[in-house]
Amino acid sequence: MFQFDNSYARLPERFFASVYPEPVEGPKLLKFNEELARELGIEADFSDPARLAAILAGNVVPPGAMPIAMAYAGHQFGNFVPQLGDGRAILLGEVVDGRGTRRDIQLKGAGPTPFSRRGDGRAALGPVLREYIVSEAMHALGVPATRALAAVATGEPVYRDHVEQGAVFVRVAASHVRVGTFQFFAARGDNDGVKLLADYVIGRHYPELAGSGNPYHLLLRAMARRQAGLIAQWMGIGFIHGVMNTDNMTISGETIDFGPCAFLDEYNPMKVFSSIDEMGRYAYRNQPGIGQWNIARLAECLLPLLDSDEDKAVDMANAVLKEFGERFQKAWLGVFQSKIGLALEADGDGELVQELLAAMHEGEADFTLAFRRLADAAEGRDDGFLACFKAPARPREWLDRWRERLAEEALSAEARAAAMRRCNPAVIPRNHRVEEAIASANYGDFSVFERLLEALEKPFEERPDFAEFMTPPTPEERVMRTFCGT
Ligand code: AMP
Ligand code: MG
Repeated sequence: MFQFDNSYARLPERFFASVYPEPVEGPKLLKFNEELARELGIEADFSDPARLAAILAGNVVPPGAMPIAMAYAGHQFGNFVPQLGDGRAILLGEVVDGRGTRRDIQLKGAGPTPFSRRGDGRAALGPVLREYIVSEAMHALGVPATRALAAVATGEPVYRDHVEQGAVFVRVAASHVRVGTFQFFAARGDNDGVKLLADYVIGRHYPELAGSGNPYHLLLRAMARRQAGLIAQWMGIGFIHGVMNTDNMTISGETIDFGPCAFLDEYNPMKVFSSIDEMGRYAYRNQPGIGQWNIARLAECLLPLLDSDEDKAVDMANAVLKEFGERFQKAWLGVFQSKIGLALEADGDGELVQELLAAMHEGEADFTLAFRRLADAAEGRDDGFLACFKAPARPREWLDRWRERLAEEALSAEARAAAMRRCNPAVIPRNHRVEEAIASANYGDFSVFERLLEALEKPFEERPDFAEFMTPPTPEERVMRTFCGT
């Protein structure tokens, strides 16, 4: 089924542990992403779901696979843990897709590994479906993210707060190398390991840097740039990752590990959904700062490779961190300028955006809907936009300021509105819809999950059939907390 070529498994043995998935009682295919399978050049026999399920649940290890659990460390909520590693995920192997990009095929929830610590190596159905929904939604929204190839029921219970149904999530990633992977070697003083890993990721993710003067400095900078851009995109769609630990930040620049992640309903920069984030470390507005903090941890690992003179190495790292802040600001402004329909840059645009956000915060406006309805306002229909706010005075004043600024750009109202609708989604995986899909699936009804996935395929279109996915939750529907469910 897969044409594997497993480069990570060819690295020295201390990079991973070889481990086979633990077979499960009753594998059953819940969802298979045929489109992604084709993109990956996977020849799956879609007519034999039982065989497909057996492979994707880990019961049958396909030819060419070299199953491994990757070693990594990480800062969890700011505290360093020298050994984490894949405790419940097994990398089957790598395939090269139609565009020539190498991608990992990983089974999450496939059984214990030497890194499981006290965990059971399993995943519950709810978090598997959440990751499926949100990672595919991110992709449709144009945000780099790991992808969902399949969800498979195991037919076995898992024990969390309650008894839940077990499932395996089949994930596709540009790679699973994390900031925490570098930390694993650096924490052991294994500089050869750090260098091997750096060379590996340059070859795999940043091949243009190979052979340049100081590839490790450029690697750090390139990685920082990708993360700054990624987080700016998150901010633009109201995405809150929820657990930005260094082990949950990829080197490739893809969003990974959709545990308690959620999207803003009403705009509140301090918003936190995750039940375990008691201090609000990973609140919406803290994400860029945390991204920079994580890059600083990566920089510490790379210091010995940057320069043999420690002071010089530190200066180089600091320059990258400073650039991260500037890059983020620039990317963020670009994202929000587009969201409010500005094609050119002008002084004062940042303040204009900030004033809108302040009005949205005060007026408890739904983040997604307010920006979407602003496209209507670009065509002269203000009602929908104003109705997003508790009181219309402040947003009305803002519209006046906005129109003065729009007058500086010679763009037709229709063209501007169309451009705004291409970057302000109508449909996002709203938390209450995700929870609803999971709740029904827990009772064996996957139709709600399927319909939500369908709605999320075209997030920038207002399709009347999917109207219920475009509105904010009612007070009774609101979901305040999300759980990792690990
Ligand atoms: P996460 O919070 O999902 O990013 O996971 C943090 C760490 O805990 C990783 O090393 C995981 O592999 C590990 N982990 C999470 N859940 C389990 C589980 N059920 N069994 C074993 N390890 C787990
Ligand atoms: Mg993780």
